[in-house]
Amino acid sequence: MGDLGWVAYPKNGWEEIGEVDEDYAPIHTYQVCRVMEQNQNNWLYTNWILTEGAQRVYIELKFTLRDCNSLPGGVGTCKETFNMYYYETDGDEEEGEDGGMRDGTVDTIAADESFTELDLGDRVMKLNTEVRDLGPLTHKGFYLAFQDLGACIALVSVRVFYKRCPFLVKSLAEFPDTIPGSEASQLVEVVGHCVNNSLPLYEPPRMHCSTEGEWLVPIGKCVCKPGYEEISGACQVCKVGFYRSLLESPGCSKCPPHSVARQTGATVCTCEDGYYKIESDPSNMACTRPPSAPRNAISNVNETSVFLEWSIPLETGGRKDIRYNILCRQVLPEGRGLDECGPNVRFLPRRVALSNTSVMVADLQSHTNYSFLLEAVNGVSELAKDHPKQYVSLNVTTNQAAPSPVSVVRKGHTGKSSIALSWAEPDRPNGIILEYEIKYFEKEQDSSYTIIKSKDTEMVVEGLKPSSVYIFQVRARTSAGYGAFSRRFEFQTSPYLTATSERAQASIIAVAITLALVLLAVVAGFLLSGRGCCCFLAKIKSVKIKCVLCFSFRRCGYSKAKQDPEEEKMHFHNGHIKFPGVRTYIDPLTYEDPNQAVHEFAQEIDVSSISIERIIGAGEFGEVCCGPLRLPGKREIQVAIKTLKVGYTEQQRRDFLWEASIMGQFNHPNIIRLEGVVTKSKPVMIITEYMENGSLDTFLKKNDGQFTVIQLVGMLRGIASGMRYLSDMGYVHRDLAARNILVNGNLVCKVSDFGLSRVLEDDPEAAYTTRGGKIPIRWTAPEAIAYRKFTSASDVWSYGIVMWEVMSYGERPYWEMSNQDVIKAVEESYRLPGPMDCPEALYHLMMDCWQHERTNRPKFDEIVCLLDKLIRNPSSLKKLVNSSHRVSNLLVEHTTADGDCGTQSQTVGEWLDSIKMGRYTELFMEAGYSSMETVTQMTSEDLRRVGVNLAGHQKKIITSIQELRVHMNNSTVKI
Ligand code: AMP
Repeated sequence: MGDLGWVAYPKNGWEEIGEVDEDYAPIHTYQVCRVMEQNQNNWLYTNWILTEGAQRVYIELKFTLRDCNSLPGGVGTCKETFNMYYYETDGDEEEGEDGGMRDGTVDTIAADESFTELDLGDRVMKLNTEVRDLGPLTHKGFYLAFQDLGACIALVSVRVFYKRCPFLVKSLAEFPDTIPGSEASQLVEVVGHCVNNSLPLYEPPRMHCSTEGEWLVPIGKCVCKPGYEEISGACQVCKVGFYRSLLESPGCSKCPPHSVARQTGATVCTCEDGYYKIESDPSNMACTRPPSAPRNAISNVNETSVFLEWSIPLETGGRKDIRYNILCRQVLPEGRGLDECGPNVRFLPRRVALSNTSVMVADLQSHTNYSFLLEAVNGVSELAKDHPKQYVSLNVTTNQAAPSPVSVVRKGHTGKSSIALSWAEPDRPNGIILEYEIKYFEKEQDSSYTIIKSKDTEMVVEGLKPSSVYIFQVRARTSAGYGAFSRRFEFQTSPYLTATSERAQASIIAVAITLALVLLAVVAGFLLSGRGCCCFLAKIKSVKIKCVLCFSFRRCGYSKAKQDPEEEKMHFHNGHIKFPGVRTYIDPLTYEDPNQAVHEFAQEIDVSSISIERIIGAGEFGEVCCGPLRLPGKREIQVAIKTLKVGYTEQQRRDFLWEASIMGQFNHPNIIRLEGVVTKSKPVMIITEYMENGSLDTFLKKNDGQFTVIQLVGMLRGIASGMRYLSDMGYVHRDLAARNILVNGNLVCKVSDFGLSRVLEDDPEAAYTTRGGKIPIRWTAPEAIAYRKFTSASDVWSYGIVMWEVMSYGERPYWEMSNQDVIKAVEESYRLPGPMDCPEALYHLMMDCWQHERTNRPKFDEIVCLLDKLIRNPSSLKKLVNSSHRVSNLLVEHTTADGDCGTQSQTVGEWLDSIKMGRYTELFMEAGYSSMETVTQMTSEDLRRVGVNLAGHQKKIITSIQELRVHMNNSTVKI
């Protein structure tokens, strides 16, 4: 209401007028209304306004404005707006006529509502409110000015203000009164100050002041320090008997049992006398004490073992970590006191820190008195030095004893494959020795060993590898059981076979029986098997040794395998009993814990033994690298390192290590060798031997046409040999393809890529079938595609495709045909044509691998056998595949299996038998004529080469072949 001291210029412009508002309350206004006059320029300046540090201020104007249309005749010069200006200075200055205001226009202000004379008459004040903001302001203060250019205005109120975030206490933190930033969306971060006896929890508390003057985005908080608790927004001290140890705990807690807090503000409670706490005990846990002695101890003697059992102590001391220790003492005869049991006495599972209430004590001396003291301890026993130890005692007398260990084992005659051993009776036989057990294994291969028995103190161990070091251990058995094994004795077999050493290995009687058996075997082999391996066992007990003689000979031919005769040697592998020749693959799925499977079959390697040098490939789970592996006591070797990428799931880790659990079970020169795994550090790794030439398909493509046929057949032979081993182990690969074969620097091919999920997920060639599974169609046998019948016979089909890939230097099987077309064509009996320059014998073998009826496909041992013959007789590879079978992009009709030619389901042997030429079956097989399809293409020349030399026989066979051809209804090439 007083004089504002605002300045109007010119003097006859803005006028200060006292008025009344619509409620007849007096108001102070500035008015101007020179609408009838030309060229108006009337200024009204405020006095200097202090910003008080605000960078953005708001101006709220209330005013009325006259509607020009309501003015009689003056419309030409009448305006309905006015301008507002501001000018910043650091002090109150005298200004010129227009005060330099033009520099800082804020806005042109118009009315939302204007009034007419009529309104005036009715005393309806059409009051407008407009708000404008200024900023960012950089000076201490500013002036405002209002410029009128010929309007009729009454300025009723000018309110100048800024916004601020007010002082605030939140979560025990104080935030000061804060002026916001100048930008519209700017947040000013303010660090809070923790109130008395509080501390920041994890990080200092922070809040953000918005331009609207609101506190936003609280981060962090303060909590009362230990010994205090928050009550009504302030920290209050914990009372006597209460404590608070952690910033996180909500309030003071009563001291746990057997502990006290004698002063206020306790952060921990102290244990009462005789009670203790260990560092790892939580603060809210009661103080505890050592347990009393175990109760109800009983013993059960079994020969020289004692089983001790007891109940938990009456007083556990308030803890759960109770353990038991056993003190074993032997009672010396004639009252000479007690002596501690020596290190030879075994405690199962152990002597101290037993968690169960029983223990087996073994290897005690027979007929001896023992005294056992059983003690219970817990986590605080160590602290309770003054607490008297409490034991329960048991006196025991053992029964009959097992023999003591054999102390020395000597080596006698040594041959290339045998070592004669002898030893002395144990020092303390403790009874009549019934037999000896000889355990042996090749040095550093102690995961599998063999045990043989002997009634005497000598024996010849046979069937050993030449130039190899073996470990032998002997133990004796009496009616009281087995004695301990002797220490290990290391003996080496001879490098060369010498007549004398061989002679020394077996008695003349044994040789005579051997020869007789060989003869028998040959005859039996011809009569019974028509193929394969015959193995005979001879037990020669008269010379005090059990001698196992095994004669093995393989002939090539595709008939069913005969069962090996039973052998008396028992073989052990990682605790599983195995019989020779029947080593089987153990599915890691049979292990409940996949980690156990990995560590059963794979050695854990310390990551410090490996250096990664470079990346050589990309696997499904991560990069494949290579570098040297230095294992202690072994020479450095180059290895491939498969890594599991970071961020894996537990399932991915299991799938990744799955491959190692499988690979670790194999030991064959044509199977990629697992060196071990790294699972105890990250990244998880699988370490295998390094294969310099990488995968076979890429290697062949890179070296197109560079190898001799014999080299290629050598590679195929290696793959077949690896597959023979896998099928003997009972392992079906399911994804045999050149891309999954690795080649080393010596062109040795090794089968790789094991694992269940790999076939399904990893292989880019795998496609979904109508039954849902993912299958590499081009490599897979029809029955496996149709109903997932994966067997070694389906692996043989894939092997045929690998042969084709190898002989065509990495060509893609069925070229660009679609998977659907491949399935259809194969079902319709079409097959891949022979690759360019492919020996006919090899193509015949491929075609046999692709027999629709899986039982008609050759077995891997037959394939190895045939390839060996071809390698030994390179001229058999001279004849190349008939060019009519080599039309690119054409498939060849496979006629032997499903054709209506009358030869279907007839084997070569059956056909030769039917024309009374059965005697040549084996020769036909050896030359690769193993299917009727191949036979129908034979010429007289082929027959001579096979070994049919009699003209009459040649004629008979050729005539039959010609008849077959007529019946076969054109075995022509079809698209
Ligand atoms: P994988 O995950 O087994 O398919 O391996 C991916 C790629 O790494 C292969 O295609 C090879 O090129 C390379 N690779 C894997 N293992 C070895 C190895 N033992 N020696 C050399 N290269 C390897």
